[in-house]
Amino acid sequence: MADSDKLDRIVADARRAALERGQGYREQALKIYPWVCGRCGREFTRANLRELTVHHRDHDHDNNPPDGSNWELLCLYCHDNEHQRQLEALSGGGGGADASGRATHSPFADLKSMLARGKPPK
Ligand SMILES: [Zn+2]
Ligand SMILES: [Zn+2]
Repeated sequence: MADSDKLDRIVADARRAALERGQGYREQALKIYPWVCGRCGREFTRANLRELTVHHRDHDHDNNPPDGSNWELLCLYCHDNEHQRQLEALSGGGGGADASGRATHSPFADLKSMLARGKPPK
């Protein structure tokens, strides 16, 4: 019995570690920052916390310093807005977002953040 308990715990630990690699920075950011959107000032509680997201100031999701200096808490709307602006800046205001994105980005960096986020970028 003790052996299978131990095994269960190892499996659970491994699973949690895998989850933390993807979500750890969000947990961490929510620990060190107040639950308030950095743009519109909307306040969050446990009930609507999933609408509060972690934005990476330099837009590099692999850059996660433990002091939180690359993170900003934004509500879904402001976060969307922030990335919209970034896309517009990258594409120079018109059309070829795809082509210019590829020119200024390493394709591997994109792949990495895609894998880390578990969904393809818009
Ligand atoms: Zn907001
Ligand atoms: Zn962001």
